[in-house]
Amino acid sequence: MKVYGRITVFPNMPARISRLYELAYNLWWSWHPEARALYSTLDAELWERVGHNPVRFLSEVEPYKLEQAAEQAEYLQAYDSVIKDFDHYMHPRPDETWFSSSYPELVNTTIAYFSAEFGLHESVPIYSGGLGILSGDHCKEASDLGLPFVGVGFLYPQGYFHQRITRDGVQEAIYDKLHFSETPAIPAVGPDGNEVVISVDLPGRRIYAKVWKLMIGRVPLYLMDTDVAPNAPADRELSARLYGGDREMRISQEIVLGIGGVRALRALGISPSAWHLNEGHAAFLNLERCRELVATGLNFNEAREVVAANSLFTTHTPVPAGNDAFSFDLIDKYFSSYWGQLGLNRDQFIDVAREDQGWGATYSMTVLALKLSDHHNGVSKLHGEVSRKMWQFLWPGIDVDEVPIDYITNGVHTFSWIAQEINVLFGRYLDSDWGRHVDEQAFWDQHIDALPDKELWRVHVQQKEKLIEYSRKRLIQQHLRLGEGSTQIAEFGQILNPEALTIGFARRFATYKRAALIFRDLNRLHKLLNNPQRPMQIIFAGKAHPADEPGKALIEQIYRASRSEEFKGKVILLENYDIDMARYLVAGTDVWLNNPIRPYEASGTSGQKAALNGQPNCSILDGWWAEGYNGKNGWAIGEEREYHNQEAQAEADSLSLYRVLEEEIIPAFFERGSDDVPHRWVGFMKEAIRTCTPQFSMRRMVKEYTTRYYVPEVQQSKGMAENNYERARILAHWKEHIRENWNKLELYVDGRRDGQLSLGEGIDVHAWVRIDGLSPDDICIELVYGEIKNEIAQPQFARPMSFTKRELDGSYRYDIHLQPEESGSIAYNIRVVPSHPLLTEKYELGLIRWA
Ligand SMILES: *Cc1c(COP(=O)(O)O)cnc(C)c1O
Repeated sequence: MKVYGRITVFPNMPARISRLYELAYNLWWSWHPEARALYSTLDAELWERVGHNPVRFLSEVEPYKLEQAAEQAEYLQAYDSVIKDFDHYMHPRPDETWFSSSYPELVNTTIAYFSAEFGLHESVPIYSGGLGILSGDHCKEASDLGLPFVGVGFLYPQGYFHQRITRDGVQEAIYDKLHFSETPAIPAVGPDGNEVVISVDLPGRRIYAKVWKLMIGRVPLYLMDTDVAPNAPADRELSARLYGGDREMRISQEIVLGIGGVRALRALGISPSAWHLNEGHAAFLNLERCRELVATGLNFNEAREVVAANSLFTTHTPVPAGNDAFSFDLIDKYFSSYWGQLGLNRDQFIDVAREDQGWGATYSMTVLALKLSDHHNGVSKLHGEVSRKMWQFLWPGIDVDEVPIDYITNGVHTFSWIAQEINVLFGRYLDSDWGRHVDEQAFWDQHIDALPDKELWRVHVQQKEKLIEYSRKRLIQQHLRLGEGSTQIAEFGQILNPEALTIGFARRFATYKRAALIFRDLNRLHKLLNNPQRPMQIIFAGKAHPADEPGKALIEQIYRASRSEEFKGKVILLENYDIDMARYLVAGTDVWLNNPIRPYEASGTSGQKAALNGQPNCSILDGWWAEGYNGKNGWAIGEEREYHNQEAQAEADSLSLYRVLEEEIIPAFFERGSDDVPHRWVGFMKEAIRTCTPQFSMRRMVKEYTTRYYVPEVQQSKGMAENNYERARILAHWKEHIRENWNKLELYVDGRRDGQLSLGEGIDVHAWVRIDGLSPDDICIELVYGEIKNEIAQPQFARPMSFTKRELDGSYRYDIHLQPEESGSIAYNIRVVPSHPLLTEKYELGLIRWA
């Protein structure tokens, strides 16, 4: 029949356990194993069949199983205990969460977090990869820490695709309809009690989006869906797929996400005082906030000051395809009725986001986000550096090290990724309440040795066996579907050797991640995999973006290897990588391999998940691993450098990978003590746990975002709003004034240009500045000095020079005495930068004058 409506009908629930419903509608259950068990123990087979989705589970479970459970003492005890924990979690005392006890004055504010994808759980397929997982983990930790946090995104009716791999290794993308009635999302209601539907204008039409609410512990996530009645059929499909469709689809989605997202919050009666743009997809939100302010009487520059002051933009990738940009044609088509509402003309509007770095001018979402936010960060130390270089052109004249893009290294939500048995092990040997100490390095330093080698190894082997069993099941399913014969199917039931060193490689098949690097020298790989004394095997998994042909070719290459006589049973490719599979892999393989082209892996997080489960990483020194690697917690591939030639880079990296495997990893893994435990190997495992769990935890990360960005943003936004945005007006006018007069500034310096000094001696430096149209209060004059390394002067220190007097000719004189503290070769210079107490970033204007 043709479907008009679809409703999920639940059986009558015994009153004694009726709150199983409520629990199903809050993803809190997903990171609390006792809560998960309330469903899975009722009917383990059904729990698997419904993809661990408790909403579906409750609609399909046999009523008698509920009746039985409601009379079983053991079940009821578990139920009561979970409900008690849940209630306590949802309604903590004010001193019980980190945020409310650290910032009691800010508990009634709101931090809004925008992302195109959220990876929360396998049963809510609205994520594609690392960016989504990061957003999902961020929300969970924000909830755990008690942040007044709301997420904004899309509820994609078809989500991201399911991957199937054909007999020839070709990836097929299958889109299944996600029935919202079978997800934990419910229609969001506004203050008036009505369901919230918002609208945005697209060329020639208005389109509507319904807002859904999904609870992640204490954090609400608002998700928009355009599949609503007033929209034309094509527009109803607009939010159907994550990263699907053409450029028009993409810009329309981003308009709904950014502009519609702000309208959704307003309709819900929510006024955030800090805004976080997780990647550039949501950057239109800052335009919409400007538009709101322009409508109240501010001009665009003033509005920009208000918006930027409490806006944080996190950039996630140096890969060009990951930085959205649109042609000016598209911008004309979609925004010609919008820029007037900002008080801008077309050229001014486009200028805000113009990028012209050699491939033709485009409207860049990253530039838009950078220019309309005062706070910016990358996602690892190295990625911060790379981003400063990449976007330096927006701050011309500013040294690359001083480009205002900082970094906070990514982390993972510990309880979403730790295997239950490892969790229990930590509880037994580290501390029964170890979860409270996740981000405390001292806790791990102090307790890690209490973990007996033998126990950790036993539990690890158990995880590996679980993974093997899971892999066999998945391979059998896949090949039954492909119609293979019973002998082959029987082989898949025996595949993978629990004794072999098992390498895990699972992530999106983007080409920069070089999934096939280990296949560069087939002979050498063949020897590694087929050594009867020291066998090795590799499990691959991952999806390629449906439009990424080279990525799909990599899948094909690995699939063919997995079916070849040489590598059969030693190289495995599992289809449809998702959060569920990731949990098996990060706990169950022995070594987590990552070999991207440095420096394209902005952070990477799967290796962090592996490490906390006791799995050492073997990785290129890129992203988080460049910070995490300490020589004892895993292995480094290649050198800490970049190459100009990717072929040379791949050759060098693959040689390094083979060498590390042959000389370090394999010998350590197969060295067994008299008790059959590989103590040296377990040493690597423990060191991975000790060093990576706290440092790369989502808890450390969200605390950093809070103290370094959210809290200052909230405070700044208060100041900005006072007296009808007085500060914003002052700042905007001051900036206009500075920009008009900056070119007239003249600078003369008198100081020694070369020569020698003895340590303890110094030199005097004088500077004269002529600043027609400006006042000395508008500028800051600094002496900058530092060592000379490889013929490059490092601007290590900046010291303000003091104003001495106004000369007769009208110029201002500044003096300083420079006395180096160490011997060596140093360079110095004098610079002038605009200065104002209301500036967020010293170099916000991108103006600078060097002598
Ligand atoms: C963690 C995770 C990722 C991200 O992995 P990277 O190492 O950052 O590439 C992608 N997909 C899934 C399903 C994950 O769990």
